[in-house]
Amino acid sequence: MKHFIVGPVEMYPSTKNVLEKGYTYFRTQEYGDMAKECLTKVAEMMGAEHSTTIYLAASGTGAMDAVVDNCMGGINKGGNDKALVINGGSFGHRFCELLKWYNVPYDSIDLDWNEVVTAKDLEPYENKGYTALFVNLDETSSGKLYDIHLLSDFCKRNNMYLIVDAISTFLADDYDMEKWGIDVTIISSQKGLCLSPGMSIISFSRRMVDKINRKGKPNSYYFDFKPYFKNIERGQTPFTTTVSIMYELKDMLELIEKSGGKDAWIKIVQEKANYFRKKAAEYGLTIPDYPKSYTVTPVLLEEGVNANEVVKYLRENYKICVNPCGGKLGNRMFRVAHIGNTSLTDFDELIEKIQLSIKEVRERNCVNVI
Ligand SMILES: *Cc1c(COP(=O)(O)O)cnc(C)c1O
Repeated sequence: MKHFIVGPVEMYPSTKNVLEKGYTYFRTQEYGDMAKECLTKVAEMMGAEHSTTIYLAASGTGAMDAVVDNCMGGINKGGNDKALVINGGSFGHRFCELLKWYNVPYDSIDLDWNEVVTAKDLEPYENKGYTALFVNLDETSSGKLYDIHLLSDFCKRNNMYLIVDAISTFLADDYDMEKWGIDVTIISSQKGLCLSPGMSIISFSRRMVDKINRKGKPNSYYFDFKPYFKNIERGQTPFTTTVSIMYELKDMLELIEKSGGKDAWIKIVQEKANYFRKKAAEYGLTIPDYPKSYTVTPVLLEEGVNANEVVKYLRENYKICVNPCGGKLGNRMFRVAHIGNTSLTDFDELIEKIQLSIKEVRERNCVNVI
């Protein structure tokens, strides 16, 4: 099976079975030093050198959950936070659900799947006492990339914390936490970093660390960040951690360095995205024209060709796995990811097989109509 999905992605050979090369008990200085060095390198790639970076044994949603719980003081917690969410798809919706779950007052800017947030959308929310903005910079459900400069300026002007889910934009698009005044950056292992699922990394600005430390206990015992901040000084975590994924990360960072570093790595992803987009257009496939992350390309199909059926046909007949879309979009659109161990030749084959699958599904439907 060849995977063109956003995560878990095709892993690079050297990161697979990495523990076979040997590993250390995690409560040792040797492991702690290794973990610290890896996190420092990841923080550098996020533009978060002066921030505090921790890691959790949790998928990305676990980190989003823990961030809402630790960073926001809801009414039941005696805090006075009021959040604003850019809600443009299933991941934006998830932030809304989490804020609701923890009784944090919030409003959301609700956008259709193909709409990005504009200055006009933000206008009604200026000077209204919001304390934090939550955004999934790449709304992976349709591959939209929001304008971080617009959001960053809005937060600075309104003295708000800026909390960014960068899970699917990191290592595919530019990212600079400190330059953009971001207070929290969340990433996870199975997307651009091309590791096994199960580890999240979170960076915090100085002022967010202070806010968390000032605040009382979060709801979660396991994900109370304060012990994580303390432990990470020695590269440690309060509880047993994702040892194998940390070794994968170490290996992956070496591979990125060997390829010329972060910028060169991002170029490889962008080259694959541009290659696919150009070829897809040449073959008459429709790619929505809103601003997109280089992580993933949405492909919109003609009326009468069900995208879910195309996805299924690709998988069953060609052992090719692409991302279906959720909800009512699922019948019209699927997504192709450009992160992971795939090559331009793989994308040639993908395009050819997409063509064949569409033809097959279209013909099948015509027969049904007759
Ligand atoms: C993948 C992803 C997540 C995390 O989802 P998990 O299934 O919990 O790993 C969160 N936000 C975005 C934008 C994502 O793409």
